[in-house]
Amino acid sequence: MGSGQVTSSSVPFDFQGKHVTVAGLGVSGVPAAKVLHGLGARVTVVNDGDDERARAQAAELEALGVTVRLGDGDTLPDGTELIVTAPGWKPAKPLFTAAGEAGVPVWGDVELAWRLRGRDGRKAAPWLAVTGTNGKTTTVQMLASILKAAGLRTAAVGNIGVSLLDAVTGETEYDVLAVELSSYQLHWAPSLRAHSATVLNLAPDHLDWHGSMEAYAADKGRVYEGNTVACVYNVADKATEGLVREADVEEGCRAVGFTLGTPAPGQLGVVEGILVDRAFVEDRQKNAQELAEVSDVNPPAPHNIANALAAAALARAFGVPAAAVRDGLRAFTPDAHRIAHVADVDGVAYVDDSKATNTHATEASLAAYESIVWIAGGLAKGATFDELVTGAAKRLRGAVLIGADRALIREALARHAPEVPVVDLDRTDTGAMLQAVQEAQRLARPGDTVLLAPACASMDMFTNYNKRGDAFAEAVRELGA
Ligand code: ADP
Repeated sequence: MGSGQVTSSSVPFDFQGKHVTVAGLGVSGVPAAKVLHGLGARVTVVNDGDDERARAQAAELEALGVTVRLGDGDTLPDGTELIVTAPGWKPAKPLFTAAGEAGVPVWGDVELAWRLRGRDGRKAAPWLAVTGTNGKTTTVQMLASILKAAGLRTAAVGNIGVSLLDAVTGETEYDVLAVELSSYQLHWAPSLRAHSATVLNLAPDHLDWHGSMEAYAADKGRVYEGNTVACVYNVADKATEGLVREADVEEGCRAVGFTLGTPAPGQLGVVEGILVDRAFVEDRQKNAQELAEVSDVNPPAPHNIANALAAAALARAFGVPAAAVRDGLRAFTPDAHRIAHVADVDGVAYVDDSKATNTHATEASLAAYESIVWIAGGLAKGATFDELVTGAAKRLRGAVLIGADRALIREALARHAPEVPVVDLDRTDTGAMLQAVQEAQRLARPGDTVLLAPACASMDMFTNYNKRGDAFAEAVRELGA
């Protein structure tokens, strides 16, 4: 972990009269175009699509005086001095190649928000940043809950709740922000400097976008660049510690680990059911501070305790007292479809973890229960299931497979858990979920958990993971009716 000069972004960027190209309409593009226009920039929005929705958005922006070019997101508009891109746009896109050749900088939505902090006399709230393959939303919400319990004006921003742009340009003043950042967003945020940050875990995901695991990890690792107080890493995931080591941080910034085991000095961990802090205490060699009980974490599954420790570490780095960690964790309720207990029917618990859209997340939720009837399948996104099935085999009472790529999971089960009964549902219509739940009920015994943790994306059968989880919950209610 080196310490280096922070590249200054403290001089406000002057947008007046600048030719700014916004790449991509949509969730981040439309508000970005509006804000930039409001700051006096000459804004052109380019968008690949030219559908009805895009046309409606274009009409709204054109009415303000923004130029919109639909159906061509690849040609760099003449005179462009800056591109502000939607985070999802791939770096390999011709627009960015052209920008690189022309020496035009490219910012993502996060970079834009970072550069807009503290304008017009507003307070520039520091950011506590969270990234990782899984657990970001949960951890950011836990963190915001802890910060609130400490009486701080804060919000969980990013994918959830308040948008970053609103948080930095809106009326509300914040003392500190709990910011969720994706690897895409970090890729496009070169000057972001968080107060403290964490990479929760690192497993292959979105490799088609980043090009390689190394590039994906490097983008995640940017979250540590320029941290001032703490780089929080996962002791059980060496790769996250490696990223801290490589980061260029401010003088005095510390590496702080979190672990489900007993913490070493400089770490947060768990001792006899208590979350304890041995990093932000006087005399770390001798002292530890109790923060909360494991049972204060909802749900108290191992991966979620790790999330709570990461959130606690960031909050403690910001100077939050131990009691606020406990109160904040107690006040936290997870979002829907993340290990949500739907109902108990005939002594069997039905749990909806539809948000487990990759194998890493599913591994965590399968580890949380002793005896499971597992409902899985959907779009595999290039994943393999051997490791997942091997790790979970002894906990599986049975499996019910749905969706387009279910054969991949069936084959992995046949290879590594041939004794586990498998029901393979040869249908991908939405109604298949009711049948899947009925089959799971048949396989389950009292004390078991029927767990929807698909390890796959949902779009072959459902609009999104929310709808998949809703279908599961509805099917469970029909069982109980
Ligand atoms: P993200 O915002 O990173 O997608 P979420 O908090 O929405 O993360 O959780 C996504 C999925 O990952 C859920 O299915 C959840 O059960 C699982 N998950 C949450 N935290 C972790 C973790 N620390 N390690 C592995 N899986 C996790």
